[in-house]
Amino acid sequence: MHGENSTAGGEEPPSGPRFAALKEFKSAGRGFWHDVSDADWNDWRWQLKHRITTAEQLQKFLPTLTPEEFAGAKLANTKLALAITPYFFNLIDPADENCPVRLQVIPKVAETHTAPWEMSDPCGEDSHSPVPGLVHRYPDRVLFLVTDRCAAYCRYCTRSRLVSNASGYDFHPEFDKQIDYIAQHPEIRDVLLSGGDPLLLSDEKLENLLGRLRAIPHVEFLRIGSRIPTFLPQRITPELCAMLKKFHPLFMSVHSNHPRELTTEVRDALGRLADAGIPLGNQSVLLKHVNDSVEVMKAHVQKLLMSRVKPYYIYQCDLIAGSAHLRTSVRKGLEIMEQLRGHTTGYAVPTYVIDAPGGGGKVPVSPEYVLCQNAGRVLIRNYEGKIFEYPEAEDGTPLVKVPSKTEEPEFCKC
Ligand code: SF4
Repeated sequence: MHGENSTAGGEEPPSGPRFAALKEFKSAGRGFWHDVSDADWNDWRWQLKHRITTAEQLQKFLPTLTPEEFAGAKLANTKLALAITPYFFNLIDPADENCPVRLQVIPKVAETHTAPWEMSDPCGEDSHSPVPGLVHRYPDRVLFLVTDRCAAYCRYCTRSRLVSNASGYDFHPEFDKQIDYIAQHPEIRDVLLSGGDPLLLSDEKLENLLGRLRAIPHVEFLRIGSRIPTFLPQRITPELCAMLKKFHPLFMSVHSNHPRELTTEVRDALGRLADAGIPLGNQSVLLKHVNDSVEVMKAHVQKLLMSRVKPYYIYQCDLIAGSAHLRTSVRKGLEIMEQLRGHTTGYAVPTYVIDAPGGGGKVPVSPEYVLCQNAGRVLIRNYEGKIFEYPEAEDGTPLVKVPSKTEEPEFCKC
């Protein structure tokens, strides 16, 4: 039977009106701010100044706010601050308590519950920090924390101990010391600016910082990690892009989790970055009720390609304190990867990773495609579950001559 989700050859990629709606690019619109002038609305500083930051404002703009959310918003300023740009707020569906945008930015009381295995610094960044604001965990690259502020705050943030300074971390990056450390370590060839959000710096400050890093001869490659293109696309001005393009090779990792975040405004902002020659990759966090379905994730990765962005990573949600209500299982992540690889464009398939708890770094996790490997053959399966044999010489080198008799592929007996 050929239903909406099945074919004779296996599960069909999600399709139908719901999938088509997910893939549609729409404007976030003006919502409550319909009286605001175009000049103000499109001004990133206006957006920042008019962010929703209190439980009372939330209640005013979102009459369907639940008691759990109201209480969560009241407590947010003791843990991770509440802030939502008017632009991003307009993506929330007020009729849906489980709206995937709402779940990402509106606090809940559940954030105050910490399971025994949860941590305030799940990636062990503080223990790999030789100078304030610099994390040197991998051999040839560093994470350069620029600021503790973001345009809006994600309720699952791995650095919630630090960003927004609500829990008294007292973050003080020292650019001189960070830059000196990099200059003194010739093995560092790659610097990732992150935070907080580096694009919250003024063009002048960011240009100065990038210029100082570019002046270090062994720094080959610069990266910026930013959620600004999705929280505040107004920040991606032609002036910013013209400044950034002076520092190539410069890549940018953006962050979006759900296709609804990819609006016409975001697509245009990403287009401006791409036109400035900046290769773009996206990082998503796998989140319960947000993107833990094949349909949503597939629409998202395909829409990213249409926005000129390569889906780069899907992260298993870190064991951050107070995030249990947003985490989903690794099994679910593997199931999604299984339905992406081979079922859609290879460029659209990100790497699924778990940041090993405590500071072990990113570990890729993948469905198993190599079923068996022994002297003379590798048994593999494809995305449809069909099994194939790849013959090899006994020492593992590729064969130059086809063996006289090739065994029928069979399940591994070793
Ligand atoms: S934008 Fe990034 S750093 Fe800021 S709250 Fe979200 S995940 Fe954390």
